Amino acid sequence: MQTDSNTATLEQEPFSAIFVRSPNQDYSKYKFDNFQDVLQLAAEYGIAHEFTDIPVPPEYPSECLEFFDDTRRCSIAFMTPSIAAIDTLKVTKEDISEVYETSLRLNSECGNVKILDQKLIADLMDNKPIYLFFKQGFLKACSDQEAQAFTKFHKALRKYLKSVDDFSNLEYQIKEAKLKARTAEQAKLIDSALGVKWRGVFAIQWRMLHDNNYLGTQKKTTVAHVRLLDDYQNGRLKRSTGQTLCGAKSKFGYSDDMDDMKSYLITCPKCLAMTGLD
Ligand SMILES: [Zn+2]
Repeated sequence: MQTDSNTATLEQEPFSAIFVRSPNQDYSKYKFDNFQDVLQLAAEYGIAHEFTDIPVPPEYPSECLEFFDDTRRCSIAFMTPSIAAIDTLKVTKEDISEVYETSLRLNSECGNVKILDQKLIADLMDNKPIYLFFKQGFLKACSDQEAQAFTKFHKALRKYLKSVDDFSNLEYQIKEAKLKARTAEQAKLIDSALGVKWRGVFAIQWRMLHDNNYLGTQKKTTVAHVRLLDDYQNGRLKRSTGQTLCGAKSKFGYSDDMDDMKSYLITCPKCLAMTGLD
C-alpha cells in the first residue's frame, strides 16, 4: 500500500463529513517562535523530537472552493430516514437511480430549487460516485474529486496541527529541563553552604487550599524556602529540624507535608541570602 501523502486515496481513508473544512479558517496563527533556539536547547538537554524545518500549514485545495457555492446544497427532500441515519453516503448512479431521476426532474422543473448542480449530475452520468452528508444542518453533496481533495487536506492539516502540539510540548519539556538543571545546580551550592540536610518547600497559603491546582506546582507568587531536615547552627543563628532557614512560619504547613516529593528552586530572598546565594 502506498503511504506517500501525495498519493492518498479514499481507499486508504474513507471520506467523512468532518474532513470538509471551510477555506476561511486561518492556520497561520500558529507560531513556531525561536524555532532554531528551541531545537538547539532540545539537543543540549537531550530531548528527542522530530523537527527539522518549521512546519507550514497545508495549502487549501482550490478544487474544493466551488463546494461552498450554495448551488451545491441538496434539498431536504433527500432526507429519507436511511440517509439521515448515516454520516456520509457514497452514491453512484445505480445506487440512487430514483433520487437521480428526481434530481434531474426537479432541476429542470424548478429552476430555483437546486438538488444537485450540473457538475455532480454530469459526474453521476459518467458513473463517477458522489458523496452525500450532513454539514451544519444541511444535506450536502460533493464530487469524488472534492472528497479526495478534502480528505488529503484533512490529513495534511491533522499532521500540521499535531506538529503545533508537539512543538509546544517540546518547549514545555525544555522549560522543565532548564528548571531541573538550575535547581540541581543551586542545590549543590546550598548543600555545601549549609552542610546539613534540607529540602526546598513552599509555605501553603490559605488561598492555595482552595485552588484545585495547588499540588505539584510552584506558584509564581509563592517563594520556595530552604526547610531544614537537621538541626542547624551557624554562629548565633540556630534552627531546629523542620524550621525554615529564614525563619518564615506557615500556618498551613509546607508543601512536603502534602507528600509532595518535588524539589523546588529556592526563591526566598532571605533563605538565599543566608546561604550566600542572593
Ligand atoms: Zn525563606
